[in-house]
Amino acid sequence: MAPRTTTPDEPDPETVFDRLDREAERRDRAGLTRRPPTRSAVESTLDLAGNDYLGLATHRAVTGAAADAARLWGAGSTGSRLVTGTTESHATLETELAEFYGTESALVFSSGYTANLAMITALADERSVLVSDRHNHASLIDGCRLSRAGLRIVDHTDPDAAANELSRHPGAGLLLTESVFSVDGDTAPLRDALRVCRVNGAALLVDDAHGLGVLGEGGAGALTEFGMRAAPDVVSTVTLSKSLGAQGGAVLGPHRVIEHLRQTARTFVFDTGLAPPAVAAAAAALGVLREQPGRGARVREVAEGLHRELVRRGVPATRPGAAVLGIPVGGANAAVAWAAACLRRGVRVGCFRPPSVPDGDARLRLTARADLGPERLTEVAAVIAETAPEGTG
Ligand code: PMP
Repeated sequence: MAPRTTTPDEPDPETVFDRLDREAERRDRAGLTRRPPTRSAVESTLDLAGNDYLGLATHRAVTGAAADAARLWGAGSTGSRLVTGTTESHATLETELAEFYGTESALVFSSGYTANLAMITALADERSVLVSDRHNHASLIDGCRLSRAGLRIVDHTDPDAAANELSRHPGAGLLLTESVFSVDGDTAPLRDALRVCRVNGAALLVDDAHGLGVLGEGGAGALTEFGMRAAPDVVSTVTLSKSLGAQGGAVLGPHRVIEHLRQTARTFVFDTGLAPPAVAAAAAALGVLREQPGRGARVREVAEGLHRELVRRGVPATRPGAAVLGIPVGGANAAVAWAAACLRRGVRVGCFRPPSVPDGDARLRLTARADLGPERLTEVAAVIAETAPEGTG
């Protein structure tokens, strides 16, 4: 650290590093310090916290394809997409993703996060107005900030509020929403959203991270579910790291949009291309979904069943639109204690607290799994209900 320049009777100014210590103390006092749990390879707990809802992360076809790709192409892609980071397998995955999702084109990124940054910053600039749902994911919020566009946050899933903002900026608006919201698992009214966009000459940008593989016939995603497949004025993003069990992300949409991203999106041009094993794993997972198109419907049934069993036991779970359910708790410490009690009974659930959710709005988050049978499902609901803090429900 640089030597202090103050005289002995002047107080030392607080440095950046001192401020970090103060923030850490405040976090500790509020019960907000995070310690990432380390998963063991031989874990016997039931995981309802991860996003591998279809069980594809460990599917033999998927892990086998990743291992083969590592041997063929290497562990990493070796460069950015426009230099050496595009293998034949990237190009094939892009074609297959576009076909599966029902859009003209797709572009693969190193994560869903960088796909969201790309979609927003390539389509919006200082002349644009982004209208963003209050519950949108951090990656969408960061994309808005990076774009330098005007930003209007609107009430959650309220098409009238969105229409009101879009109508003030004809032709300059972009409406930004998740299809399935990542914490509570509710769905956006996408058909209404598209209608208000069309009335106001706006584009609709949909983060379908939790829709791909789960919503729509065969798991084709939210646009198929809501009858908007191939809409020329919708651009979507997906992640390859949830239902597909791999890693990476993609932007999907009309050819002219994807070509614009290929030329200009900074997280495409300056980021190292997605690692070939992840590319191959995602392509293999799509293959499994094509062969077994019922997996998405199955996980939705499990989510509905879990919701029913929890509500029957007095746990106020949110109604799932896809595979995700939230349970509002309130205080961060109560949520942490509840999740820890579930874990002691062999069930790992997600625990969301600030900054992932607003202050005082901590919740448990559960993801259904396609492989959860009816008996186990009832047991899990019982564990969650029996460990609930006093006053829940
Ligand atoms: N959008 C949403 C709605 C998400 O839940 C996530 C994952 N947390 C992302 C984007 C980011 O995707 P990735 O993890 O692939 O970066």
